[in-house]
Amino acid sequence: MTTIPIHPAGKPAYNLSRQAREAEIVLDHITDDFDGNPAAMQYFYDLFRRVYIQGEALAHEGKLIGTTCIQAPDELIYAMGGTPVRLCNGSYHYDQIGADFMPAKSCSLVKATLGMLHADNPIPRIGKPDLIVNPTTCDQKKKASAMIEDMGYAVYDLEMPNVKDSEEARLYWQRSVRQFAQKLRQVTGRKLTKKNLKAAMARTSRAQAAFRTLHNFRKASPALMLGKDVFLVTNAFFFDDIERWIAAVEKLNAELAQRQADGYQAAQRRAPRILFTGSPPVFPNLKLPLLIEEAGGVVVADETCSANRMLYDMTAVDEWLLHDMVDGLADKYLKPCTCPIFTRNDDRRRRLLELAASFGVDGVVYQAFAGCQVYEMEQKSVAAALNAKGIAMLYIETDYSPDDHGQLTTRIEAFLESIKTRKRKRA
Ligand code: SF4
Ligand code: SF4
Repeated sequence: MTTIPIHPAGKPAYNLSRQAREAEIVLDHITDDFDGNPAAMQYFYDLFRRVYIQGEALAHEGKLIGTTCIQAPDELIYAMGGTPVRLCNGSYHYDQIGADFMPAKSCSLVKATLGMLHADNPIPRIGKPDLIVNPTTCDQKKKASAMIEDMGYAVYDLEMPNVKDSEEARLYWQRSVRQFAQKLRQVTGRKLTKKNLKAAMARTSRAQAAFRTLHNFRKASPALMLGKDVFLVTNAFFFDDIERWIAAVEKLNAELAQRQADGYQAAQRRAPRILFTGSPPVFPNLKLPLLIEEAGGVVVADETCSANRMLYDMTAVDEWLLHDMVDGLADKYLKPCTCPIFTRNDDRRRRLLELAASFGVDGVVYQAFAGCQVYEMEQKSVAAALNAKGIAMLYIETDYSPDDHGQLTTRIEAFLESIKTRKRKRA
C-alpha cells in the first residue's frame, strides 16, 4: 500500500462542502478544546483531517468490500486478498440526504449511510466497492439492501439468525458465513485456504490485541486519556490500512504506559466515570461522548459496535482445519454479539454489569437513535439491571441533528452533578 504523506505541502483544504465543514468543526473541537491530548493521537487527528476534510482518496488492495455492520467477517475478506471498509456513516449532511428518500423516522445511522452512498462525491473517498455486504440485522438494515442495489451497487445479504443461543441458530449462521466465503470467491477470484485464512486471522488478532491493551489502560483511575480520542481511534479502524492502524495504536499504548508510570491524570480524580452504550457513535457524530467530557465526565468504557464490540472478542479455533477455522470465525461473530437485534439479549445486561464493575464506572449513558426500535425497547430492562446494582443510567434518544445540543448539555450536566453529589456523600 502506498504511504500517504501527512499534511501534504501546500495542499488546500478539500473544499467548503458541508460534510467537510461538519467534520472540521468536530475535529477542531476534539483537538483544540481539551487538555492533555496524547501526542500519539496526532496520527489519528491527521488521518481524519486528510480523509474527511482534505478529501484524500483511500488506497486499497485487491477488491474493495464495503460492510454495513460489524457482523461481516473481515478475516474472510482479507484472506481472499480484498480490503474491507465499514460504510456506517455519522454525518448529519448525509443523514439529510438520506431523509430525502427514506422514511422520516428512520435511524440516522442508516439514513446517513444510504445518503453517503447516494451522494456524487462521498466522503470518505473510499471508491466504489466491488461488493457491499449487508448483514440482515435490524429491519432498517434489511430493507436497505434493495435500496442500495437500486443505486447501482452490488449487494450481498449476509443472513443473520434472530436468536443466537440455540444450536439451530449457530448452524444457520455457520452456513451463512460459508456461503459468504463462496460469494467472496466469485468476486475476488481467490480461493479460501487454511494458509490465507490463518494469516488473515493473525492480522486481525494483532489489531484486537492492540485494542485490548488500549481498552485495559482505560481501567486506570484517574483516567489516562479521554474517551473522545478512543472513539476516534476505533472509528479509524473502519477505513484505515490495518497495519498502519496497529502501529499507531501500539504507539499510543506505549505513551499510555509512560503516562501510567508518571502518574499522569487526563481527568480530575473525582471526575464521573461513564460507560457508554447503545447506538454507535460514528465520526463526526461524537455528540454525546463530547458533551459528557465537556461537562467534566470521562468515558472510560463502552459497549457499542463502533468501538468495544467491534474489536474485543477473539476467535477460538479447536482444530486448524479450514472447516473448523471458518466455524470458529462464525462463532466469534455470533456468540459474544450483544446487539439488541437478537430476540433475547441477556448477554448485553451481563456484559454491561461486568464492564461497570471492572472499569469502576459511576454511571451509564445510553444512546438510542430516534427510530431505532431495538435500542429503544431494550433500555428499560438495561436500566433496571443497572439500577439493581446501584448504577445510575441516563437514557438519551437523539439523532445526528445539532438542534438538541442545548437540551442535552443540561441533561448531561445534571446527570454528572448527581453522580458527583453521590460520590461526595460516600467519601
Ligand atoms: S447496531 Fe447492531 S445492526 Fe447496527 S451496525 Fe451495530 S451491530 Fe450492526
Ligand atoms: S442503531 Fe438501531 S436502527 Fe440503526 S442500524 Fe443500529 S440497530 Fe439498526
